[in-house]
Amino acid sequence: MLPTGSPFGWNACDRSLYVQFLTALLMLIVAFSFAALDGWPFLLQRPEDELALRTTTILAIAALLFWAGFYAWTRRFYVRHGDKYSRLLLVTIAAHILTGTAVCYALGPYTAVSGLVTVAALLLGMVLLERRWLWLAVGGWLLSMSLMHFASRAGVLPFLSLFEASFEQFDIAQVAAERAVAAAIIYIPLAIIMDHLISVWRQDERSLSEAAQLDSLTGAYTRGFAMSVMERAVLKAGRDGVALAILMLDLDHFKRINDAHGHARGDLVLQQTTRAMQSALRAGDIVGRFGGEEFVVLLPGADLEQAMGAAERCRAAVQEMKIPNAPYLAVTASVGVAAFPEHGEALDALLKASDTAMYKAKANGRNRIESAQKRAES
Ligand code: GH3
Ligand code: MG
Ligand code: MG
Repeated sequence: MLPTGSPFGWNACDRSLYVQFLTALLMLIVAFSFAALDGWPFLLQRPEDELALRTTTILAIAALLFWAGFYAWTRRFYVRHGDKYSRLLLVTIAAHILTGTAVCYALGPYTAVSGLVTVAALLLGMVLLERRWLWLAVGGWLLSMSLMHFASRAGVLPFLSLFEASFEQFDIAQVAAERAVAAAIIYIPLAIIMDHLISVWRQDERSLSEAAQLDSLTGAYTRGFAMSVMERAVLKAGRDGVALAILMLDLDHFKRINDAHGHARGDLVLQQTTRAMQSALRAGDIVGRFGGEEFVVLLPGADLEQAMGAAERCRAAVQEMKIPNAPYLAVTASVGVAAFPEHGEALDALLKASDTAMYKAKANGRNRIESAQKRAES
């Protein structure tokens, strides 16, 4: 399943994975262009220069290992909380490696391979992102490829034109120099496009936080803002058929903390709680202050299992947090979890379900998480 909607609807995890995917792909193409592509055409014929072939093959394997390692790292740090999108990316990556390899074998020359694979990556980006202006990137790319092709044929550029096989070329040093020129011409514009993409995304995120109303004490979103974001998210989840979950978190015996340590330190606890929750969650998750010491969390794209994981991380983060100048002050929280659509299809129902689950956590001894009851089938 593809993530639906524009990148505005994606969470930060999806975006960072996507950006890292394109970046890693780019590096892979570069590595392959320098290393494997000079070796692979030889594989079609009997290689004459064994050393060159071995060197380029080792480099190609190093590039592949880098790719796998980079992806594993990304997955571990950004997709701890579910592998729905990472599985998609894994499939996409495998498809890219397979198609890229097929193209490499079929065509050989650097310009054709890197151009086609990159256009494929951009087209994929367009499908994933639904960003119309990416057509410009693809169009510009095809244009620059064509210009290079004609420039090569006219002898202006010192490397082979598109679709021209390089089997006869055995001077590795000269080939490497030509590839370096080609890489500079190809990848500098691509880097600029990528940089633009990333800055546009950041801009989107900034405008969200500018529009946001933040609670002056804790820096969490205000109840009103969180409600309007959740309202839209629930509608979108219903429309697109994607998952979504809500957490309700309430600090345990907060009144006692206030009474024993004073209201000012109580305020500090609320600030620390917000920070602890935010760092336990993904950047795209919304943390709102719902009431005095009650917080609501919107988890876009999370199913019940993932939401339970997020709830447990929040609970643990609150328990582990250290309050400045009061290292022995123990703070715990009870969390209720409700998921769309199994616990409700409207925001009201989801809030009520998560609230009821939170009270169940209180009743069952506090410092724990509980999921909402499944609705009776009607
Ligand atoms: P429970 O485990 O059942 O939730 O117990 P509790 O003491 O946390 O529950 P209760 O809702 O009775 O107490 C909430 C307390 O939160 C009461 C109120 O004084 C305190 N509170 C609400 N807003 C603020 C605030 O902005 N700052 C501080 N320091 N305390 C607040
Ligand atoms: Mg409380
Ligand atoms: Mg309360």
